[in-house]
Amino acid sequence: MSDLKIDIKSLTPEALVLFLNGLGKEKFRAGQILRWVYKRGVTDFAEMTDLAKEFRAELQKRAFVSDWNPEHIEISRDGTEKYLFRLNDGESIETVRIPMESHRSTICVSTQVGCAMQCEFCLTGQFGLTRNLTAEEIVNQVCAAMKRGPVNNVVFMGMGEPLNNLENVITALKIFYSEAGLDFSPRKVTVSTSGLVPQMLEFGTRIRANLAVSLNATTDEVRDRLMPINKRYPLKELMAACRNYPMVPGQRITIEYILIKGVNDSLDDARRMVKLLHGVRSKVNLIPYNEHEGSAFKSPDLKNIELFQRYLLDRDIVAIRRTSKGEDISAACGQLKGRLEKKQF
Ligand code: SAH
Ligand code: SF4
Repeated sequence: MSDLKIDIKSLTPEALVLFLNGLGKEKFRAGQILRWVYKRGVTDFAEMTDLAKEFRAELQKRAFVSDWNPEHIEISRDGTEKYLFRLNDGESIETVRIPMESHRSTICVSTQVGCAMQCEFCLTGQFGLTRNLTAEEIVNQVCAAMKRGPVNNVVFMGMGEPLNNLENVITALKIFYSEAGLDFSPRKVTVSTSGLVPQMLEFGTRIRANLAVSLNATTDEVRDRLMPINKRYPLKELMAACRNYPMVPGQRITIEYILIKGVNDSLDDARRMVKLLHGVRSKVNLIPYNEHEGSAFKSPDLKNIELFQRYLLDRDIVAIRRTSKGEDISAACGQLKGRLEKKQF
């Protein structure tokens, strides 16, 4: 009968209130349950001692709390940890924990098994899309990581295109933001997109989060080749969407730009980027391409990265050079692939 039970981790706080309503219970019970589940990591209703015994028994009949542990953990020389999670249907995904100073950490979560966007430089994209992750599968990546230490930031930059799984990502965010639960501030959460224009605007109007846009090229010609999504939403539309993205004062869009040797790392590119970003409240993350097997792309020379950054800084564009973490365990951006295999047809 267990498949008729509802997973508490699949419910936003509002949905939990409705569920409890159906059981004739008061609204404040939701806060109690969320605190047990997210603040104390309790997964057995029997342990929720501030609920009446009969209520606990009722919950046990109708609900459960999923609980994840990685099937496999790899730890990089720089402290980055990569977790492999096995999903109920046998698929697998990866989640990365990136250490910051003084025991803080950022978690990089996956939103899909594979990805439909087929970006030429990205390992995840080479295998196509298998399926969307459910909200609880997104939430559980963070819960499992929190068992190993505090999590301060969440970035949606693992496997998959978050805005291609909009509903489940929004549900997961509502759970992240729940005060009685995980209690993340929207300022600590960043969702990265390859540039699905209509979904960007829908996302921005429905929920708050920082938005990162993977730009990766400064002409439609190069971007069409690197990121096929550009054929549907070319640069002009993408930049207009960035300009119109709803933001609170002080908020900026993160423009992610992978530098690939000889492809998009010239000073002409830097010059075009300045033009593209005109009127966009943004900051630029320059990411040297992470090389991986099966791809002919190369990382640029340090000199070129510095020149590119200098060009932007001199024109008052905030440009940060992001060093890759966890490269030795293939945990860096674009290197996650779970146990995906090329499908044989
Ligand atoms: N699908 C979303 C989020 C996941 S990808 C997106 O594309 O934005 C997260 C980031 O990894 C993107 O900015 C992407 O451009 C970058 N990336 C992909 N492959 C990479 C590689 N080989 N080296 C460096 N960054 C890469
Ligand atoms: Fe998908 Fe992002 Fe990789 Fe492109 S870069 S294939 S959108 S995960």
